[in-house]
Amino acid sequence: MSDLLSAFLRLLLLFKLVAPVTFRHHRYDDLVRTLYKVRNQCPDVTRVYSIGRSVRGRQLYVLEFSDDPGTHEPLEPEFKYVGNMHGNEVLGRELLLQLAEFLCEEFRNQNPRILRLIHDTRIHILPSMNPDGYEVAAAQGPYMSGYLVGRNNANGVDLNRNFPDLNTYFYYNEKYGGPNHHLPLPDNWKSQVEPETRAVIQWIRSFNFVLSANLHGGAVVANYPYDKSLEHRSRSSHHSSNSPTPDDKLFQKLAKVYSYAHGWMYQGWNCGDYFPDGITNGASWYSLSKGMQDFNYLHTNCFEITLELSCNKFPRQEELQREWLGNREALIQFLEQVHQGIKGMVLDENYNNLTGAVISVSGINHDVTPGEQGDYFRLLLPGTYTVTATAPGFDPQTVSVTVGPAEPTLVNFYLKKSKAQVYPMRRTPSGEQAARVKVLSRPSRKKDPGMKKPHRGPA
Ligand SMILES: [Zn+2]
Repeated sequence: MSDLLSAFLRLLLLFKLVAPVTFRHHRYDDLVRTLYKVRNQCPDVTRVYSIGRSVRGRQLYVLEFSDDPGTHEPLEPEFKYVGNMHGNEVLGRELLLQLAEFLCEEFRNQNPRILRLIHDTRIHILPSMNPDGYEVAAAQGPYMSGYLVGRNNANGVDLNRNFPDLNTYFYYNEKYGGPNHHLPLPDNWKSQVEPETRAVIQWIRSFNFVLSANLHGGAVVANYPYDKSLEHRSRSSHHSSNSPTPDDKLFQKLAKVYSYAHGWMYQGWNCGDYFPDGITNGASWYSLSKGMQDFNYLHTNCFEITLELSCNKFPRQEELQREWLGNREALIQFLEQVHQGIKGMVLDENYNNLTGAVISVSGINHDVTPGEQGDYFRLLLPGTYTVTATAPGFDPQTVSVTVGPAEPTLVNFYLKKSKAQVYPMRRTPSGEQAARVKVLSRPSRKKDPGMKKPHRGPA
């Protein structure tokens, strides 16, 4: 090697060591390169995969972190971050790329907190759900005159108003009895939604996600479900009322974890708005229909909140470093929240998988189901709970569980085959799930799977 070349290489190495992390906006090609760069730097704990394509044919890439990428390990929860659903709200996209680089770098530095996180969690990062909208916004740049340019996808559709509306079922069920979890998709849902939405729905149906956040901009607040108020139809889109889920206290805590770990969100005064503790119920801010976070809660096991992260939807490049430092701890702490409550296996006496098992917590009208391998996760605040596992054809099993503040409590269920006669099952709007619940002699809530399909929403 020539002296000149080795001097150059040494210089390059020196530069690499002292150069600050570069903060810049990433166009699509740059984003893809960055994901693959992280993939190549941390090949043992990462994987890049696509969940589908945008209207313009751009791949919706996800970067996965796990000690066994590409595999669901039983009792290891699945977590996701989604950015840039509104193409012109770009901070989330940049923060998620920074997060990806940070996780990889700290893994390589043997940072014990990050090692543990990657060892115990399967993390999925979708930095841009709307790459087409982003390119339109980015062509205009940070000094945008049109505030909404690039918000929608290439078909002009707002993706956070594009998910099937399951709230209507839910409000009906609240009134007349029926489940508010795993509500079914309309038969023709695929033809009713945009390609990006379709890809995300298929994605969240194919993993048993437990916790998630959807990153936006235009305000600074952590927003939790429901987004849609009960009075949505009769009111204008502002001055709505609080619309809590059965998991309201848990959602408030999750939102506070983010706001208090964030540099300034918790202060509440941001962008000319005030939100106590830097959090808000979605509907009490303004009601929106067909949003992603309500869909996650009503259709899947996933608890999702929406993070509004910057007053300026397209911050200048010079602001990115401050934003990253303001969000870094919050992004990690929120991720760590996936490890709380209870988790375990639901199997039969011979450790075989059960079909249609459901985990219910007394006093919280929102059940969860195990994944394909029989493991379930139920986020809960510290406290003592009565938890019941049920499956059709098996005797239900109820236990009392105490949940602490840190680690999740392990609660396994091994159900015995029921000797009772088989109950007739009827088809219901909520499909199999509700019918399964009927089999049980359940102590608490009334759930009537024989309910009729709502005519046109709540009366
Ligand atoms: Zn948004």
